Amino acid sequence: MKIIMLGAPGAGKGTQAKKIAEKYGIPHISTGDIFRANIKGGTELGMKAKSYMDQGQLVPDEVTIGMLLDRISQADCENGYVLDGFPRTIPQAESLTASLKERGEKMDYAIDVDVPDEAIVTRMGGRRACLGCGATYHIVFNSTKVEGICDACGQELVLRDDDKPETVQKRLTVYHDQTQPLIDYYKNEGILHTVDGTQDLNEVFKDIVNILGV
Ligand code: ADP
Ligand code: AMP
Repeated sequence: MKIIMLGAPGAGKGTQAKKIAEKYGIPHISTGDIFRANIKGGTELGMKAKSYMDQGQLVPDEVTIGMLLDRISQADCENGYVLDGFPRTIPQAESLTASLKERGEKMDYAIDVDVPDEAIVTRMGGRRACLGCGATYHIVFNSTKVEGICDACGQELVLRDDDKPETVQKRLTVYHDQTQPLIDYYKNEGILHTVDGTQDLNEVFKDIVNILGV
């Protein structure tokens, strides 16, 4: 099963992708997590990505596409995967479609987690992220057992630099300009499904399971 999560930054793609990955036994691939791991590790890729991310801009397609195509060609992706944060531009989507086609494959589902901009700004201020395992929490809507500590791996949680209000606004503008057109792209491919992302996160997940099947 090959799934793409679509939606604005903060819509809940990562939260739902993690639950999908657990339930269906497929890897959760977040390009944002890959970039953050590279920044933390001080790699060349991380250094390239950091300045764009800090400004709420997209990392250039030349860097992102190759990295993602390489990741999905690894052995653990044989039975599918859930993509979170990729594609984010039409050229990224076209490269993904073309690369899969070469192997006689295609994406099965694109799930758009729909949340209006007003709700996004509230969510992002309360988001706390684990740079160790990629888990995300919210101080009100999805809190940890021990404040500030990741339930999954025990590392300290951080407020991401790019979750500050001025950067969130920039990211939303970038989303509407460059990423929202993918909704029509996947509608045309016949694999688009939309869920109401303003519901409680367990309700959102139920709707997704209804789409994917048990
Ligand atoms: P994305 O991966 O789309 O950027 P996240 O999954 O990290 O978004 O979610 C953004 C923030 O909103 C996180 O703090 C998360 O805990 C919280 N969140 C996710 N889904 C919901 C929901 N349905 N209701 C309220 N808060 C949510
Ligand atoms: P995310 O964790 O998905 O919110 O992504 C955080 C940041 O990483 C984004 O604001 C971009 O700067 C960068 N990024 C993640 N995925 C992509 C992508 N597919 N294309 C370009 N930039 C990306």
